[in-house]
Amino acid sequence: MKTKRIFNFNPGPAALPISVLEEIRESFLNFMGTGMSIMEISHRSKEFDDVINDAVARTKRLLNLKDNYHVLFCQGGASLQFHMIALNFLADGKSADYINTGTWSTKAIKEAQILGRSIQVAASSEDKNFSYIPKHIQFSKDAVFVHITSNNTIKGTQWAAFPATGNIPIFSDMSSDIMSRPLDIGKFGLIYAGAQKNIGPAGVCLVIIRNDMLEMIPDNLPSMLNYKTYASKNSLFNTPPCFAIYTVQLVLKWLEETIGGLEKMEALNQKKAHHLYNFIDASNFYRGTAEPASRSLMNITFRLPNEELEKKIVQEALENGLGGLKGHRSVGGCRASIYNATSIEAVESLVDFMANFEKKNG
Ligand SMILES: *Cc1c(COP(=O)(O)O)cnc(C)c1O
Repeated sequence: MKTKRIFNFNPGPAALPISVLEEIRESFLNFMGTGMSIMEISHRSKEFDDVINDAVARTKRLLNLKDNYHVLFCQGGASLQFHMIALNFLADGKSADYINTGTWSTKAIKEAQILGRSIQVAASSEDKNFSYIPKHIQFSKDAVFVHITSNNTIKGTQWAAFPATGNIPIFSDMSSDIMSRPLDIGKFGLIYAGAQKNIGPAGVCLVIIRNDMLEMIPDNLPSMLNYKTYASKNSLFNTPPCFAIYTVQLVLKWLEETIGGLEKMEALNQKKAHHLYNFIDASNFYRGTAEPASRSLMNITFRLPNEELEKKIVQEALENGLGGLKGHRSVGGCRASIYNATSIEAVESLVDFMANFEKKNG
């Protein structure tokens, strides 16, 4: 058993800011003087109303959302969104364009097609094992939306700039890079993000949706699968995941008040990622798997000369207080997930450790 905290490079659920965990611990038994835990109070109480409203307000401020965007909290993770999008927007023979950049995009495509909905794969990077982000894409004129995965958690690639889709709104799965950088929000009709990578614990999915999108949704859908239900009830149609939303609220507060907003967060994220990529690029022992122009600032994927060494480094790193470096089971290799809450100190420790490991095993 570890007696102290380690540097956590887990892909998700992932590291949270220590100050947030401490704040939760302090308020855990007696939330806001109620004499009850946040887990024990009513979701209809004034105290919880303040939590969810503050989480919404902070999301709007951080991302510069105008009043024509709604901030929703759903359950079912990003994986339910894959299907909910098609259910809400692709009835009556409407069609959408999808860009396939890896495992999660592939799943989004599959779940959208389940009810026989019509979609086109406008571009894919499958030809090179999803190691890059496609360019110069032709979109269908009649597409209701273009779906992308802004950061490919497993393959370690990320859209540095978003595709030019003209008037077609972009729908993006931002599970692993939401709030990691400022966004030009006007391009987006819908954004969704499972909280457990960059903004909170598992159990809640943040959804940002534009008014004109809501107007397209048919009425004959199950309430819990209709975005309009969440928008009209401030995500309180039924009991929401109160504790998860509370944690998201605290992470957003940390982003605003401790970090100082998304421009500052982006600068920190760039510094962390460049430190690690520069080290990997200078080494003949480690090899990055994503094409340099498409590299993710969040998930740094790399290989060692052989699989035995990959096993060994993951194990030895953990013994040295550096956890979660195993690549996804579908691709192997190593992956350091360095989301917002990962400190520069954690990344420096990792690079020092990797340099040492190379000396001993290279
Ligand atoms: C983790 C992840 C998902 C799956 O999220 P769940 O909340 O577990 O459904 C989807 N998309 C991306 C980009 C992810 O990183």
